[in-house]
Amino acid sequence: MNVFLTLALPGLSPAFALLYSGGNLLYGFDMWSLLLIIPAFILSLMAQAGVKSTYSKYSQINARSGHTGQSAARRILSQYGLTEVRVERTPGHLTDHFDPRSQVLRLSDSTCDSPSIAAIGVAAHEAGHAVQHHEGYLANKIRSALVPVAQIGSSFGPYLAFFGLLLSLPLLIDIGIILFIGAVLFYLVTLPVEFDASRRAIRVLEDQALLTDEEIKGARKVLRAAAMTYVASAVMAVVSLLRLILMSRSRNNKRF
Ligand SMILES: [Zn+2]
Repeated sequence: MNVFLTLALPGLSPAFALLYSGGNLLYGFDMWSLLLIIPAFILSLMAQAGVKSTYSKYSQINARSGHTGQSAARRILSQYGLTEVRVERTPGHLTDHFDPRSQVLRLSDSTCDSPSIAAIGVAAHEAGHAVQHHEGYLANKIRSALVPVAQIGSSFGPYLAFFGLLLSLPLLIDIGIILFIGAVLFYLVTLPVEFDASRRAIRVLEDQALLTDEEIKGARKVLRAAAMTYVASAVMAVVSLLRLILMSRSRNNKRF
């Protein structure tokens, strides 16, 4: 998956905008929601800014090994015997990802031919996902299984809950919440998968001497900054779920 993928933050999606504004329309100004959402939103902004600035800094420093993102990925995949995994270029900036269905590691224009520390770090991270897939890494398997659940949960969960609130249908609210729990689990299980891919990347960069000790510090900073965007997404998902539950409880209290 894309290390810098801007996962649609649940708090920012149209469904959640509807949920938030709808909730406030129905129940007035909700201080608890603001207390939950504002820090999560600030964390998301900080994570996005952090990854941009860190990547930008280390994309201007070239590695001494002379490798590019593409050649580093190829070498790491060969090291693990993954010769069947193709390395291809994909359009865009920071759109790097490993596609397990087609067994292709796609590197973005900004990573593929760049000999920078950032590009090699990102390429190694994506190769780490390929290795996870081939080793049957458990968290990765769980995450893959949760993809359809998360898609349905984040698309329909908030709408169902919102209309449940609007129409005073507790069953609809509960179904919405249960569906959204599936999406939250997806965001949570993404964390160990991402941290593990970065851990593998750093280890192989050291073992293969693709980066020097000093350069590895830079790659580590880039990957940590990228991981923070996933932490922010998970926090936003949990906060959105709490918000949903609080709104549901608030509705129940107002019935009496
Ligand atoms: Zn990743």
